[in-house]
Amino acid sequence: MMSDKVQIIGLTQDELIAKLKEFGFETFRAKQIWHWVYVKGATDFAQMSSISKGSQKVLAEHFTMARPVAAKDLTSFDGTRKWLLEFPDGNKIETVFIPEEDRGALCVSSQVGCTLSCSFCHTGTMPLVRNLSAQEIISQTLVARDGLNEWGKKREECLFTNIVMMGMGEPLYNYEQVSKALKIIMDGEGISISKRRITLSTSGVVPMIERCGEELGVNLAISLHAVRDELRDILVPLNKKYPIKELLEACRNYPAANNARRITFEYVMLRDVNDSDADARELVRLLKGVHAKVNLIPWNPWPGAVYETSKRERINAFAKIVNDAGYSAPVRATRGQDIFAACGQLKSDSERKKGEKVWLGDKPAS
Ligand code: SAH
Ligand code: SF4
Repeated sequence: MMSDKVQIIGLTQDELIAKLKEFGFETFRAKQIWHWVYVKGATDFAQMSSISKGSQKVLAEHFTMARPVAAKDLTSFDGTRKWLLEFPDGNKIETVFIPEEDRGALCVSSQVGCTLSCSFCHTGTMPLVRNLSAQEIISQTLVARDGLNEWGKKREECLFTNIVMMGMGEPLYNYEQVSKALKIIMDGEGISISKRRITLSTSGVVPMIERCGEELGVNLAISLHAVRDELRDILVPLNKKYPIKELLEACRNYPAANNARRITFEYVMLRDVNDSDADARELVRLLKGVHAKVNLIPWNPWPGAVYETSKRERINAFAKIVNDAGYSAPVRATRGQDIFAACGQLKSDSERKKGEKVWLGDKPAS
């Protein structure tokens, strides 16, 4: 049963202040509560020692900060961590933490499944169940702070420093909720991860790209994967709607990119499909005039897929052509493959129930 309490997670600080005012709480109290939730990681009002017992009782009666349950919590041999989160309606999504030496990125999901059936992506084989709400998107960061034991720590003591919107789903098809969640995550008095440490990856929803740059100013990553429309139509079917030329034009105009903040072009390396020298040269030609860097991703296999990963020498030869043209083109290290947490391997067993309406708009399902 859904609770009729007000869910704090998912409200902006201003919304929380306004909501709490209705119950007689002053602004400074609301700010204290915000701090408890997003800096200290409180999950129970009784933990909020700066709030009187009486007020705690009022809060507990009318508000909640319940989090989704981590139904699974797996750690790879390389330290990559994956949580399978279950929501009250039974839907499940995956969130992955990829630690590096002095930092780490949380790979956050934006939808249960994905409507865009890219032929090389495991998530694309899932029927979309629904968009995630801002609350569900933010909750992924809270669960990660819990799991990594990073509440109340100084920034330099935290390993979770960055966010990549590269989990399940197409974030620009759920823009309203994604943008609300990211604004809350960026709030300097809360989780406080800045736009420079957030990267949003899109398969190329051209009409939303400018707005994303203007309103959020986050780093942009584009799932390009092919340099010719005929091939990209197959790999990333959204290309039929927004072909390469239009996509690159939107990138040239991306408000939050410059020489120091380049757009990442993700390029999955598929053996004998998109990995020739000619492809690399065409890629260089296409990127002219774009503040770009390239990320080569060895394709991660999943059951039933028809592709193979390019040979290492092929990837290196491809990278060299792109590098020699002046673009950085690192090969993304494959992480967490043993726990099925690598790029494009995420999938949960959520299925669309028979007769259930799928919503793709920007409003949460009621
Ligand atoms: N829907 C968005 C966000 C997901 S990001 C997007 O497509 O950009 C996930 C990244 O991993 C994308 O670049 C995607 O193309 C890539 N990917 C998908 N399946 C993959 C696989 N099997 N191996 C390697 N990369 C994959
Ligand atoms: Fe969806 Fe991105 Fe996978 Fe394509 S690559 S199916 S857009 S999650």
